[in-house]
Amino acid sequence: MTTVKLEKRSSDYPMLSIMEAWSRIASVLAPLPPVRKSLDCAAGLVLAEDIIARDSMPPFAAASMDGYAVMSSDASLEKSVVGEQDAGIKLDLSVGQGTAVRIMTGAPLPVRADAVIPFEKTEEKEDVVRLQVIPKPGENVRPVGLDMMAGETVLPKGFVLGPAELGLLAALGQFRVLVHPRPRISIMSTGNELVAGDEILKPGQIRDSNSVALSAAATACGFEVVTMSRPVHDDRNKIEQALISSLNDNDMVITSGGVSMGKLDLIKPLLAELGDVLIGRVAMKPGKPLTFAMLQGKPVFGLPGFPVSSLVCFEQFVRPALRLMSGLNLLWRPCVDVCLAEKLQHDPDRTEFQRAIVESGHEEFVAYSTGSQSSGRLKSLVGANALLILSLGMGDFPAGSRVKAFLINQPEIHKTLPIIC
Ligand code: AMP
Ligand code: MG
Repeated sequence: MTTVKLEKRSSDYPMLSIMEAWSRIASVLAPLPPVRKSLDCAAGLVLAEDIIARDSMPPFAAASMDGYAVMSSDASLEKSVVGEQDAGIKLDLSVGQGTAVRIMTGAPLPVRADAVIPFEKTEEKEDVVRLQVIPKPGENVRPVGLDMMAGETVLPKGFVLGPAELGLLAALGQFRVLVHPRPRISIMSTGNELVAGDEILKPGQIRDSNSVALSAAATACGFEVVTMSRPVHDDRNKIEQALISSLNDNDMVITSGGVSMGKLDLIKPLLAELGDVLIGRVAMKPGKPLTFAMLQGKPVFGLPGFPVSSLVCFEQFVRPALRLMSGLNLLWRPCVDVCLAEKLQHDPDRTEFQRAIVESGHEEFVAYSTGSQSSGRLKSLVGANALLILSLGMGDFPAGSRVKAFLINQPEIHKTLPIIC
């Protein structure tokens, strides 16, 4: 009998902790170079310049109620009305001892006026007004510069432009601002077994669901996605061609499938040939074969093909990476303590992200598992609002245990990856 020499198949890539994997990603990524954009295209973008107010806002002292403008140092309660000041025009009016000007909200105050008594607290007859209250200095007046003074830095670089910030810029007449653009992303599915959603399945084939799910995950966080219309076959040259053309037009490429140890798992060797592979394995479940490389100065994520693995890797690595490239500094979702409603099994060799529904109980959050945690079972993510973090080195968790969880439907609040990972 001839002896067959068995070769051990082992990965060339070290198994990285989640922390180490993230620090490798963060060390090579930076916010995209700033561009000037008009305000209507700038919502959610990050400012790349300090905004200094050229004018004070409001630029003149104005009434903040409809009423009578008066001089607060004048104690007389009965005054003759010497004119009327509307908003949007500046009349040559002034008040003094015993006089008042009828004034509308937003109108500039007449000379010497420093208070406005609202109509409700007055009586007027034949241009004589009787005040029912004694005016106080500054009452119902918006002083010059209440919102901002000329020369003040109103928005420092790094600020995220939300509705209030955009309103402030519009009020200042600053209609074009320097911002970090959002990265453009290309998503491509790879696998001989895959067909596009509109095709009829032949035996052995499945529909490509990852490109739809990953695009939705990217657009949900505001990114612009170009999805390849058809899955790419497990063919070195076809993958290379798709990869290179996607890289030319985009800031990041995300592939799914083909990163494991099978003979048709071609992504890792191809990325190693064309660029620099920084991550080949991560001690996490799902998502162990996660791959990250830099090619032509741009990041490429090779996500595993199993639908849950690809979405969990997107959530834990791709999304923070996209946020970093957008100039955002809050990268991580809220990480909270939750109490397990039931026992969870856990493999201590890897940090596991179990999908769960977290509800607020009497005094704490309670986590309910979404059932079987197989990485091919997309239903384990359906309706889930949390990823429970079952740490490396720990065994099973009995019901009532407390663990950390990322709330995956909530906006990011952490700058750094919580060390629990
Ligand atoms: P792979 O990572 O290429 O070994 O793929 C692992 C498994 O994930 C495959 O056997 C498929 O069942 C599934 N899969 C891979 N790519 C996709 C995709 N784009 N859409 C849905 N399922 C996929
Ligand atoms: Mg495959």
